[in-house]
Amino acid sequence: MVKNKNYNKGILVRTCKKCKKIIDEKSLYDYCPECFKRIEEIFEKIEAYLKEYPGATAFEIEQETKVPYHVINNFVRDGRLIEIPNEYLNFECKRCGCLLLSAHHKYCPICRKELEKEMELAKMQLYKSMHHGNAKMHIRHGDTRRKKY
Ligand SMILES: [Zn+2]
Ligand SMILES: [Zn+2]
Repeated sequence: MVKNKNYNKGILVRTCKKCKKIIDEKSLYDYCPECFKRIEEIFEKIEAYLKEYPGATAFEIEQETKVPYHVINNFVRDGRLIEIPNEYLNFECKRCGCLLLSAHHKYCPICRKELEKEMELAKMQLYKSMHHGNAKMHIRHGDTRRKKY
């Protein structure tokens, strides 16, 4: 990036908060365009999750969106996310007992996936049993076809 070192000598240059690349002095943001774009994408993910689940804890956001806790915390420090005291208790996943800290979900993402699989399997087994001679037979009343034979 820095082709002409003399140009920067003795001049305080602004650098990207994330990758330390030199950025335009007049830039509105503390990040280079690439980092800014990446950060915005992450923030949009958090934003979308919070819209669906207002008041989600940082722990829950990390678990559900895969955005690391320290990144979420950076947004708090930048003032883009606001922390409010949480009255929720430490909820645990009803299946594996891992920490959820969430009032929105009964199960952690891993267990939810497992449960979905189990449901699918149960559905398939039910379907199979219904289509493999397990159904009860009844004679239809007034079956007229019998006359043909
Ligand atoms: Zn950068
Ligand atoms: Zn679980």
